[in-house]
Amino acid sequence: MRLQSIKKIEGRIRVLTGLHIGAGKDSLEIGGLDQPIIKHPLSKAPYIPGSSIKGKMRSLLEMSQFIERPETRHWLSRGMACGCGKKDCPSCQIFGTSANNKDEDLGPTRLIVRDAYLSPDWEKRFQNGDLPMEVKYENTIHRVKGTAKDPRPLERVPAGVEFDFHLSFKVFEDDDEDLVDYVYKGLKLIQLDALGGNSSRGCGQVEFLDLSCNGEAVALESITL
Ligand SMILES: [Zn+2]
Repeated sequence: MRLQSIKKIEGRIRVLTGLHIGAGKDSLEIGGLDQPIIKHPLSKAPYIPGSSIKGKMRSLLEMSQFIERPETRHWLSRGMACGCGKKDCPSCQIFGTSANNKDEDLGPTRLIVRDAYLSPDWEKRFQNGDLPMEVKYENTIHRVKGTAKDPRPLERVPAGVEFDFHLSFKVFEDDDEDLVDYVYKGLKLIQLDALGGNSSRGCGQVEFLDLSCNGEAVALESITL
């Protein structure tokens, strides 16, 4: 197995409904004052960690291949990434696996997902103080009285903001070309689902714009699920 080529997949992520990717304080502050989003430590600008995009792609793809690969139930039902380590498992090939029993010819992880930073225009606005983050109050509804209580402020990246994103896909074998479609399918599934937290309450709907692979346009609409 040798590296044949590396595909550069690029585009923009547009936020359609407020995006909340927590800075990890949520679990420490139940009922607390703030649920901050993750920000770059130096610029303080919001960004989308590559691990959030990759993790979401993987879990959605594994849910979608569950019918063909019922053995993945073992990991899915525990909320874990597939650990089958089989060479014919697209997920383990693309995203890698820590399985001890993985097939020898599974090869290295194919996909790298970089952190997605604000697109230049939005970065400029942010630096000029012209891109405030949104604070949305989430309430618990009293089941009998129907009244709202315990409002908790939730910080979100406002709708309309765009981030640049970059993926890098290593092609080792001719068959790997087919796996790239699986990556596009993952992006399409994210569009149908969401990124970040609180998605069941409307946060994190996104769309991918100007998607390209090695400079050639890719139409997600033509990718079948
Ligand atoms: Zn697997």
